[in-house]
Amino acid sequence: NRGIFWFRRDLRLADHPALDRACRAHDELLLLYIDEAGEPAADASRAWLRKSLAALGADIERRGGRLHLLAGEAETLLPMAAAACGANAVHVSALHEPAADARDARLAATLAGNGVALRRSAGRLLGDPDAVLGKSGAPYKVFTPFLKAAMPGWRLRERPPPERLACVPLPEALRRFGATIAPPRPAWDYGFWDAWSPGEAAARERLHEFLDRLDDYPEARDLPAVDGTSRLSPHLHFGEIGPGRVLAAARERGGAGADKFAAELGWREFAYYVLHHWPRSIRENFNPRFDAMGWREDAAGLEAWKRGRTGVPLVDAGMRQLWHQGWMHNRVRMVVASWLTKHMGLHWTHGADWFLHALVDADLANNALGWQWVAGTGVDAAPYFRVFNPVTQSRRFDPDGDYIRRWVPELRRLDARAIHAPWESGTSPNGYPPRPMVDLAKGRAEALARLADTMR
Ligand code: FAD
Repeated sequence: NRGIFWFRRDLRLADHPALDRACRAHDELLLLYIDEAGEPAADASRAWLRKSLAALGADIERRGGRLHLLAGEAETLLPMAAAACGANAVHVSALHEPAADARDARLAATLAGNGVALRRSAGRLLGDPDAVLGKSGAPYKVFTPFLKAAMPGWRLRERPPPERLACVPLPEALRRFGATIAPPRPAWDYGFWDAWSPGEAAARERLHEFLDRLDDYPEARDLPAVDGTSRLSPHLHFGEIGPGRVLAAARERGGAGADKFAAELGWREFAYYVLHHWPRSIRENFNPRFDAMGWREDAAGLEAWKRGRTGVPLVDAGMRQLWHQGWMHNRVRMVVASWLTKHMGLHWTHGADWFLHALVDADLANNALGWQWVAGTGVDAAPYFRVFNPVTQSRRFDPDGDYIRRWVPELRRLDARAIHAPWESGTSPNGYPPRPMVDLAKGRAEALARLADTMR
């Protein structure tokens, strides 16, 4: 009795309902990862994926098994693999992304035609997006009532990994699809690995290290110069650790930090919930009222934003952290997104696309929700007329300027008074833009005027 396990964004062995189910149902498994990207894309998350698969492969080999990496279309390769090794089922974890879910439905039909079942299990989320609806039967559009309704149904899982994995060798017919993911050339990801270690063991270590700081989380989480958050986002994105384990560990530790942290995991649930119920919100304004907005086009300005050359220290620090580490602090994500969509007046999808390219935690659901929330075009009660002042934010959340000094070395000699807005004191050093590319007051006024026009 043979089955296929198709790993996707569930690159772990513990707390894994789909893998558990597959191990119980079959004597032997063919373990596959299918690289469907086609040609190598130079995305930060692909650099992460390469290392994560290496870690998973090694964990599997320690349990006597073997992970095979194939390149091609899953809809072609899986029926072929099932026929070649005589498998009667293909097991996966649900991805909860509309395009992927639709593809699973097509795949299930194709496999069924050959007498093979597609068995999907949950595991990526704490709850089921279809299980939580408002009183009228419609999905929630506001976070807090969603959280209240969803939280009691969250599943916490703590299951050990399988001790042994009895595996089927790769059938001859599939050998020619065998692949590897090449490291980026040139090695632009070099800065990532000072900050990150992909893989299940590293994810668990990061969780444990974070739990010691959990009590400080409610305050420290807003300070970009401090290591105040969990930095679990890429591990959660790739499923190297399940959200149930993360939440269970935080609850066990307890305190106000645990509650705040659970609510942040709730935002991740909400992002997937919104995407599930409103699939078009990946690219389109959630609130169509904003479709008439007169967004600007500014290719040179967009490029300066991407490179961290806007002349606004906190914005530039964030964009350079993103480029160097493949990650940016949440507070700064909000500030750079507000600068792009409000002060610069560019459509949020320009920023969302760059984030998807540059983040190691690039995630369709969380990213679209974050951008639409800041742009004010999305769900929830975020006031669309709020325009973050990047200098006020900088003084408040990076008061000593340590975060800016770390990521914008041109400014490292400026003191805490000058560093947030060097143009005000005429202290901009050579090599750094002498003033912001958009005047702060003018940019704010224009953003509000654009919004007022749209609302008319
Ligand atoms: P922690 O504070 O330790 O939170 C724990 C976990 O909760 C995170 O790992 C994440 O999975 C989840 N979480 C926390 N905040 C949010 C949030 N606001 N929305 C959804 N989930 C959240 N997060 C991504 O994972 N991928 C993205 O592509 C992404 N794009 C974003 C774009 C913008 C414009 C904004 C404002 C936010 C975005 N976020 C994204 C959400 C958030 O910034 C990151 O999840 C967070 O910074 C990750 O750091 P952490 O793991 O240390 O967070």
